[in-house]
Amino acid sequence: MSELAYPYEAPASQALFDRAAAVTPGGVNSPVRAFRAVGGTPRFMVSGTGPYLTDADGREYVDLVCSWGPMILGHSHPEVIAAVQDAVSRGTSFGTPGEGEVALAEEMTARVAPLEQVRLVSSGTEATMSAIRLARGFTQRTKVIKFAGCYHGHVDSLLAAAGSGVATFALPDTPGVTGAQAGDTIVLPYNDLDAVREAFRAHPGEVACVITEASPGNMGVVPPADGFNQGLKDLCAENGALYVSDEVMTGFRTSRAGWFGVDGVVPDLMTFGKVMGGGFPAAAFGGRADVMAHLAPAGPVYQAGTLSGNPVATAAGLAQLRLLDDAAYAKVDAVSKEIQGLVTGALAKEGVAHRLQSASNMFSVFFTDRPVRNYEDAKTQESFRFTAFFHSLLADGVYLPPSSFESWFVSTAHDERAVQRIADALPAAARAAAEATA
Ligand code: PLP
Repeated sequence: MSELAYPYEAPASQALFDRAAAVTPGGVNSPVRAFRAVGGTPRFMVSGTGPYLTDADGREYVDLVCSWGPMILGHSHPEVIAAVQDAVSRGTSFGTPGEGEVALAEEMTARVAPLEQVRLVSSGTEATMSAIRLARGFTQRTKVIKFAGCYHGHVDSLLAAAGSGVATFALPDTPGVTGAQAGDTIVLPYNDLDAVREAFRAHPGEVACVITEASPGNMGVVPPADGFNQGLKDLCAENGALYVSDEVMTGFRTSRAGWFGVDGVVPDLMTFGKVMGGGFPAAAFGGRADVMAHLAPAGPVYQAGTLSGNPVATAAGLAQLRLLDDAAYAKVDAVSKEIQGLVTGALAKEGVAHRLQSASNMFSVFFTDRPVRNYEDAKTQESFRFTAFFHSLLADGVYLPPSSFESWFVSTAHDERAVQRIADALPAAARAAAEATA
């Protein structure tokens, strides 16, 4: 990595960032984009094609973020773009029911057996917020169990000990969340069934639901231990609570039926976003028909949205899902494995202590020599090594998530040329990680 590479190598992005900072808090519309954990200039991207992004300075990067998950077919997939153009040509929003949203819901319910009914919304945050409200309305209980390091969007009651940006910035309890909201949230260590058992014992008849990332990716990738999700489901069933599986990140990514397709544990409610929107704001929650029947207008629990089921977003999502057949997943899984091997090989060659953890085709690297089973483990990593690793790769045209608490994502478009560019950039990045000091 050249000394000039950081932080002054992207003058056009820096100029945009300066303009942005004048009109937007921190210069970004979602905190992790600001590069605060790694320093330097956030790259302002102007276009994306296949596995590549191009920034405002005209530099091309192999993209290992994929818009934080959604772009599983790569950028500007011709069939998704054609579906969007076709939808746009007929109008952009009607505020009425439309066939596209029915077709998307049919496609989702056909793929994910526990999804008997689904309600479309516009973001993962809206999906989890609505699922929690429904769980409370259905059970007539107030408390929610969540796990430290799991991120479920910026829902007030779910921000306690959250992962993703909250982990990246080591934020404590966020100002603006009331004591009552936080007080109804029970935060437990991930992968610890005894803690869940104890919480149910301490709060008899009070817990509406347990919400968990189906396989967490927001503290880095920390898969559930064998039997953990089934144990959660069983404890919920024993205690009259709902088991809510947040598949916003894993849904339609880790298999054609998401993480449910991997572990087969049947949730009462599920949440989705990212891949199902094809790069547009579409998300969903759904599950047991008897629970969903409590949702307005069928039932008393209110939930609504001006742009819910938007025709352009649903067209993009449907086109993307229809292209995601077994061959597509085999391709994403294979390229993910290949990149995982390259990363761990390069780091091992430089003697850098690390753990590469994966969940199907999601993966991330922790700079530690111990297995990471929960958020406390994740926080013990040497993040300064990640910073050096990140900047070396960025300088050599590989775009990683700008935080060591995030999953990396690949797509069907990551071909041999893209993989070769990663392979070429890794030796210097591994050296930078080895030489980094706190
Ligand atoms: N749930 C999980 C597991 C997520 O990873 C995210 C976002 O990264 C969300 C919920 C929130 O989704 P959104 O950013 O669309 O609001």
